Amino acid sequence: HMESVGFIGLGNMGSHMARNLLRAGYRVSVHDINEDAMKKFSDDGIPTKQSPLELSKSSDVIITMLPSSAHVLDVYSRGNGLLGNGGRLGPWLYIDSSTVDPQTSRKISLDMSRCSLNEKKGYAEKPMMLDAPVSGGVPAAEAGTLTFMVGGLEETYIAAKPLLLAMGKKLIYCGGAGNGSAAKICNNMAMAISMLGVSEAFALGQNLGIKASTLTDIFNCSSARCWSSDTYNPVPGVMTGVPSSRNYDGGFTSKLMAKDLDLAMASASGVGFKCPMGSEALEIYRKLCDEGCEFKDFSCAFRHFYTGKDE
Ligand code: NAD
Repeated sequence: HMESVGFIGLGNMGSHMARNLLRAGYRVSVHDINEDAMKKFSDDGIPTKQSPLELSKSSDVIITMLPSSAHVLDVYSRGNGLLGNGGRLGPWLYIDSSTVDPQTSRKISLDMSRCSLNEKKGYAEKPMMLDAPVSGGVPAAEAGTLTFMVGGLEETYIAAKPLLLAMGKKLIYCGGAGNGSAAKICNNMAMAISMLGVSEAFALGQNLGIKASTLTDIFNCSSARCWSSDTYNPVPGVMTGVPSSRNYDGGFTSKLMAKDLDLAMASASGVGFKCPMGSEALEIYRKLCDEGCEFKDFSCAFRHFYTGKDE
């Protein structure tokens, strides 16, 4: 029989990921603190549970897709949280796909290793844990083409592959617990810095009299080429099908970018490492959010700082 999967966090990403597991034939039950999010599943006959602990009792595997570290700690560790029964009769595998700091992933993994032996028939072992954040955004969650960056024991990663491939198409094993989360926040920190860097350079170019489209052609066959110049250009009119061509709507919000930079800076200070560019980028994204661009795509930094104000 196919394993039963308990899915927690039915938001923009999680709702699609849970549906892709159903499509792949897994038995799925769900939990979310938002009743409306759960209703969309119960209306389709999918079992819903009122707490993480209750969900864990009927699941072989748990997947969490929550906003951030505090929510993940809450779902795992509070009274009726996932680890509430000491892991004894619960799932054999837990996968957290939320974007969190690696310290949080490592803490939960450690808490899990302190659980008692799992006595459920078939698994005379301690439960296992993976941090498996994703890149790709909502369209990739819907299409089942996410990229997973996975931290944890390699044998756990191998055992989890079929499940992950029901939701994504590329899996990258990153090493021990927390390394998936580390990879994700480093990627997003570099993405934020490069977006601000090309925005500033395009703005300088315009002030020096060179058109953004010409400068883009040059960047894209020169050493400044990057994702922010050739795939997600922030200057309106240079590319079609990107947020800058539709008033910076849709895409990856400034609010989420600020959250991810916040995680990166918190992790950096947790290990006594300084990231001057990352912390400058965090200040810029905080300012963007304060000045009304919270829900605009993060490439709106170009328009906001260089060519006028967002509403
Ligand atoms: P979302 O806010 O749309 O969904 C989060 C869901 O979690 C909501 O339904 C919320 O009700 C639920 N929730 C919150 N606290 C809870 C709790 N204590 N117990 C149970 N349910 C709870 O967020 P999203 O866009 O789906 O993103 C989820 C994660 O994926 C985030 O960490 C985000 O950074 C990451 N991510 C998002 C994108 C994207 O483009 N949206 C891309 C890559 C990664």
